[in-house]
Amino acid sequence: MGHGCGHNTIAAAGLGAAIAAKRWLADHPGTAARILAVGSPGEEGGGGKAYLIEAGVLSEVDAAMMVHPTGANRVHMPSLAREAVEFVFTGVPAHAADTPHEGRNALDAATLALNAIGLLRQQIRPESRVHAIITDGGQAPNIIPERTAIRAFVRSPDTRYLTDRLVPAVHDCARGAALATGTDVEIRRSAPAYAAMRSNAVLAELITGTLVAMGREPGAELPNRAGGSTDMGNVSQVVPSAHPLLELVPGVTMHTHEAAEAAGAAAGDQVALDGATLLATTTIQLLTEPDLLRQAKEAFAQE
Ligand SMILES: [Zn+2]
Ligand SMILES: [Zn+2]
Repeated sequence: MGHGCGHNTIAAAGLGAAIAAKRWLADHPGTAARILAVGSPGEEGGGGKAYLIEAGVLSEVDAAMMVHPTGANRVHMPSLAREAVEFVFTGVPAHAADTPHEGRNALDAATLALNAIGLLRQQIRPESRVHAIITDGGQAPNIIPERTAIRAFVRSPDTRYLTDRLVPAVHDCARGAALATGTDVEIRRSAPAYAAMRSNAVLAELITGTLVAMGREPGAELPNRAGGSTDMGNVSQVVPSAHPLLELVPGVTMHTHEAAEAAGAAAGDQVALDGATLLATTTIQLLTEPDLLRQAKEAFAQE
């Protein structure tokens, strides 16, 4: 819960929806359907759903849904394609006061790389994002750092721009920094790539109706908003998918102390209950009118 993104309500909503839809199935014995409630770790950092897809979890799935809390009710989650990269710089240690000239400073390399990325930001498309932290900043102040590490997320709504232009440019920032400091850099992808979210129009229409019916009128869509990234984007490339957002606290920003507190209080419980209702209702609609599922698949094929 301290992660501050309300993921406790996501898990509860998904499980609640599955329990409700299963009861509905028991009351309608003629319905040939299976419902999967899939627990998925590492939504933001680790790409849990990418591994689940690879393992075949979606192989017999017709449509997929999840719900996430945020500061407003929305039918679509705006999301960016994302690459997670790690740079590890290796230098030569030396005594920082006695023989600094004999060292090669891996922290200088990390500093230069971050500055190069900062300057690069002026030359990238406005909706792109590059953000980084230093995960290893050296060993001790009196030692020229032998090893440093940076983790960065690189994002864009355009997957091709991301992979062909942006990620190579960020890699070059690290290579240039290594060259300038006489250190070595190892570049690796630290998590599976995230695809941008494709919202299925047919599922979105059903969700809009239910949101209105439950008094959660969806806010205006923000087409130019960058948003975050989610491994639900990877799911949405494989099967028709929906990723609505439910208001936790009006206008709240996730990953704040306020969001963490609300997710553990009454507002979080309400999101879990309403999320379960929303996903269960959509599931039951798809089971009641099989033509909807056909339409959703058609829309998916045409996207
Ligand atoms: Zn988050
Ligand atoms: Zn999240």
